[in-house]
Amino acid sequence: MAHFCINCGAALVTRVIDGRELEACPNDSFVLWRDPKVATAVVVEVDGGVVLGRRSIEPGYGLWCLPGGFVNDDEDPADAAIRECLEEISAQVELTGLLGVYHIAKTGAASMVGISYRGRLAAGARIAAGAEMLEVGVFQIDSLPPLAFPSHERVLAEYLKSPAREEVEEPRVAATARHASPPSQFQGQSRPPRRR
Ligand SMILES: [Zn+2]
Repeated sequence: MAHFCINCGAALVTRVIDGRELEACPNDSFVLWRDPKVATAVVVEVDGGVVLGRRSIEPGYGLWCLPGGFVNDDEDPADAAIRECLEEISAQVELTGLLGVYHIAKTGAASMVGISYRGRLAAGARIAAGAEMLEVGVFQIDSLPPLAFPSHERVLAEYLKSPAREEVEEPRVAATARHASPPSQFQGQSRPPRRR
């Protein structure tokens, strides 16, 4: 598939740069770099469990995932993580630590650099399904539902073995409305499935 320079519109030609074959402009300095995309995921801790959302969009429609998403080019990844939590679980989240940085190989698309954080709900915040979620809930780590992305399974595996997780054993009063919810696995609000 032909590609064109974003500066001058010329058809790109193949050039070897630092040993890699890349498409570049014959007229100016534009190079179509094959860079990874950067995505965040947040393990939001609530009462010893973690927050997951069930997706109302592809990929992974109907499956569960951690809140998170792509980082904009002018955005600090931590700010992107907090923004994605607001969009997906409708809650203000405070990040409490970095869990890991990892490479996510893709075929047929740019690979990704995943950055995962631990977080907790800000005082007074409660979770609710955002536009891209059918429902949200709090799950104990040993009874997780089917996840949409292998990378999120990896994040949760790293979370499980992270020393910081031991701090979770202390009771915390961050979650609001816990007494208002029925004592079930699900604490989130749900919304009916939408047709796309
Ligand atoms: Zn050009």
